[in-house]
Amino acid sequence: MFRLASNLLPERAVQFLTASYFRANAWYSLGAGKFHSTQVIVEHPNMKIKILPALSDNYMYLLMDETTKEAAIVDPVEPKTVLAAVEEAGVNLTTVLTTHHHWDHAGGNKALVETFDKPLRVLGGDDRIEALTQKVSHGDKFTVGSLNIECLFTPCHTQGHICYNVTVEDASQKPVVFTGDTLFLGGCGKFFEGNATEMYKALIEILGSLPDHTEVYCGHEYALQNLAFGAHVEPDNETIKQKIAWVKERRDNGLPSVPSTIGEEKQLNPFMRVNESPVQKHAGTSEGIETMAAVRREKDNWKAPKN
Ligand SMILES: [Zn+2]
Repeated sequence: MFRLASNLLPERAVQFLTASYFRANAWYSLGAGKFHSTQVIVEHPNMKIKILPALSDNYMYLLMDETTKEAAIVDPVEPKTVLAAVEEAGVNLTTVLTTHHHWDHAGGNKALVETFDKPLRVLGGDDRIEALTQKVSHGDKFTVGSLNIECLFTPCHTQGHICYNVTVEDASQKPVVFTGDTLFLGGCGKFFEGNATEMYKALIEILGSLPDHTEVYCGHEYALQNLAFGAHVEPDNETIKQKIAWVKERRDNGLPSVPSTIGEEKQLNPFMRVNESPVQKHAGTSEGIETMAAVRREKDNWKAPKN
């Protein structure tokens, strides 16, 4: 729908239509002024991550350095929620980390920059990102307070997609990675602008080589749908069954399913398991990239059976 509209309408009208669509969708599924999950803070010794639900199933993340109180916001599609969280936490917001240009991730950048009382640096890997001040590419490094952030270029869902890997000096502490619409809990983003070779590189070679205990913060709450598909691909995978039970309980209590870890994803996510024999068997091939293509094709048309 948006691809068609974007060919026919001026850019402003497309933005308006897109924004209206996402807002109407959230209103329809949640009710006015409601969030799909409760805000939750994950505490590490040197950093805090506040999980901020947005729209009908998006996540924004306020990343806070405990030492300096400097903060970054990931994909601030709802600036009002972000500003309230920044004020409540008493942190110094300096940076916007944009994973990709889609409206439900980057659509709040301009309004946030315009309403915030100090200048913000807006990072991203795509010229289509609104209010971008610094275009980043693979391996680029910068800091937010004492936190080290490395850009991981993962094109496929969009050609400018960046994941942000955050580490601290003390190696005993858990790293975290913000994966946008590349890696979800139990799934991956649709290949809107890329192919299976690119997603294989992103998931298996780039994200898959992060330490297993790296916490994964993804762009959407899709865990139950993704895990249901995972159970269809691998009916005998006990990790998937256990995770479904755990996520159901979390969701029944209005809690987010994020974060997972890279190690967990390797155990339960079919797209990170394309070199494992049960997934290859399901796909009818013994080659990783072909398995990636086949599993993605199947998921694009798959609907969970009704109980
Ligand atoms: Zn997207």
